[in-house]
Amino acid sequence: THDTTIFRLFDVQVRRRPDAPLFELPDGRTLGYRDTADLVQQIAARLRADGVTPGDRVAMQVSKSPEAIALYLATLQVGGVFLPLNTAYTGSEMRYFIGDAGPRVLVCAPDRVSDYAEYKDSLVLETLGDSGDGSLLSGTERDDQVFDAASTDPAAILYTSGTTGRSKGAVLTHGNLAANCEALIDAWQFTSEDRLIHALPIFHVHGLFVAANMTLAAGASMHFLPKFDADAIIDLLPRSTVLMGVPTFYTRLANSEKVTPELCASMRLFVSGSAPLLASDHKAFSARTGHSILERYGMTETGMNSTNPYEGGPRKPGTVGKALPGTEIRVVDRNSAKPLPDGEVGSIEVRGPNVFAGYWQMPEKTASEFRSDGFFITGDLGMFDEDGYLCIVGRDKDMVISGGYNIYPIEIEELIDSHPKVLESAVIGVPHPDFGETIVALVVPNPGESPRDSELMNHITGDLARFKHPRAVRVVEALPRNVMGKVQKAELRKQYADLFT
Ligand code: ATP
Ligand code: MG
Repeated sequence: THDTTIFRLFDVQVRRRPDAPLFELPDGRTLGYRDTADLVQQIAARLRADGVTPGDRVAMQVSKSPEAIALYLATLQVGGVFLPLNTAYTGSEMRYFIGDAGPRVLVCAPDRVSDYAEYKDSLVLETLGDSGDGSLLSGTERDDQVFDAASTDPAAILYTSGTTGRSKGAVLTHGNLAANCEALIDAWQFTSEDRLIHALPIFHVHGLFVAANMTLAAGASMHFLPKFDADAIIDLLPRSTVLMGVPTFYTRLANSEKVTPELCASMRLFVSGSAPLLASDHKAFSARTGHSILERYGMTETGMNSTNPYEGGPRKPGTVGKALPGTEIRVVDRNSAKPLPDGEVGSIEVRGPNVFAGYWQMPEKTASEFRSDGFFITGDLGMFDEDGYLCIVGRDKDMVISGGYNIYPIEIEELIDSHPKVLESAVIGVPHPDFGETIVALVVPNPGESPRDSELMNHITGDLARFKHPRAVRVVEALPRNVMGKVQKAELRKQYADLFT
């Protein structure tokens, strides 16, 4: 157990450096620690007036703003359970999340009130606009009572990205958030001197519990961008120290001539996660900037599990490093749960103070994803290399079984991607009458290129056993991705399901 909380860590910084900047906004506005604390107290008063008591869910579906982060902190202050929702969700998606989580309050954008009229008898609807307008901040009261949260009390429900199926609500405790935040601050030597470029959404673990929590807890500041914008980031690099992004941030930045070692002179750390960063993209970014991207591995249910070293060892492209202090990671046989030797691919499982309390209202699903000794079955497959670094080879659900053989798509994707005419690719398994499943490769060419199937096949077949050869190659314009840059393979499997049947 862990006895601090994100709210307490923030509160310490408010007292320590009330005038220091916390948010630096694109319009030049700055919001300091004391200013933010004042917003938090104003929102806390409103939430209490709305009847929020400890354990009540407070849902938020608004665009990124300092006020939205203040709403998060205010929810923690009053003992509520914060529930951030993707701003892209509409009608039936919202009905699922609201129905599932049963929030006491839903904070939405002012122009969405009429969409959510159906909820007006079951919850309190508040509004928050892009510039702090709306009902949430219309009161004049301040509330400074802080709920004395225990480390096991729930702090948030975060829904998973829905990459492999319907999103599940992961219940994260105050102890989970604080323990993971402190481990990351140590591991990456984050301090109050840091100026983070924050261009991630705040309804996922990466933007909220890694980027924002670390900034608040360390007394640092962040350039708070509404979304990823390569030019805006390029403008900010000379005034920043850290960037946290998903892999597509780095592939886009590596494509810009404006990105140079000189532009990055004040930068000390580039972090990537949420989806695999190809070794080739890692190298392309190093070649352009002289910086080695630090890749880490995490998920909604666990926060961050592993990281490449900040110092004291190489950052190895294609790996996600070693377990964070306090967290245990093992690779085991999926069925027997027996540990596997280094170099063998198996189920990645984790245990530690960062691991969530369970899926919201899904006791059976929760039970089936935990081993009896407390390890959580991540659903990812991987292995430890000769240096003890974890390599993720993909998701359990994306593994293809063809003619009885296990095939890990990443191996084939890397070969295809090494073709000079190829930008990126996705390899999936689709039903096949003889083999059970067979391999289909979706290939996105580099701009202006149109590779023929035969050239691509010639490029890869020499390095692949016959059973791993794609049975069909399709050149496509783009891969379907969600906001976190994750390729939606379930979507692709659906699209190509009938190719051989
Ligand atoms: P769902 O669980 O609903 O299918 P999801 O797993 O994509 O969706 P998240 O919790 O947002 O939802 O994502 C966690 C997953 O992202 C991990 O399980 C892993 O598959 C992937 N991931 C995160 N970081 C990395 C990384 N550095 N390299 C490869 N994969 C990563
Ligand atoms: Mg998942």
